[in-house]
Amino acid sequence: MDLASRIRDIPDFPKPGILFKDIAPLLGDPEALRHCVEQMAAPFQQPGNTVDAVAAAEARGFIFAAPVALLLNKPLVLLRKPNKLPHTTHSVKYDLEYGQAELHMHTDSLTPGQKVLLIDDVLATGGTMAAAAELVGRAGAVVAAYSFVIELSFLEGRKRLHGHPVHSLLTY
Ligand code: AMP
Repeated sequence: MDLASRIRDIPDFPKPGILFKDIAPLLGDPEALRHCVEQMAAPFQQPGNTVDAVAAAEARGFIFAAPVALLLNKPLVLLRKPNKLPHTTHSVKYDLEYGQAELHMHTDSLTPGQKVLLIDDVLATGGTMAAAAELVGRAGAVVAAYSFVIELSFLEGRKRLHGHPVHSLLTY
């Protein structure tokens, strides 16, 4: 399955100098999307490499995290922008490749010691996932691994992920 052909490059979006990786063609191809999600779940279906929960940042992370959580039969935890979650939250501010952001997580969504798989569509600078990892830590849970559809390796986002295993289906 050629996933790379289902990713569309959009130059200068949302700002000049950013080459945006558009996943719309991937989402428009059910066979490719199913393959993608199955590939993301596969490492964590191996005995000895299981996780206790799957967490993702909105919005595109949710698209992949929900089916992976179902395949793994594990809880799904939502990391959301400010003023979206109705219950008590932990929050972390962070820098993006383009701009600033803040992520929130319900304080009761993870329990201490749980091993969490963090998912997103794109690993760019790693700011989002570093913030996500901080939220996981606030709950006393631990990051088991990260999984991305696309890794922009030239931005060296991995360096901010503290040596935890990183799985990327496509690397640029
Ligand atoms: P970062 O925090 O820099 O790793 O950025 C990751 C988040 O921003 C992901 O949720 C992506 O959806 C989005 N993102 C950053 N850079 C790009 C890009 N070049 N193409 C598509 N999405 C991107």
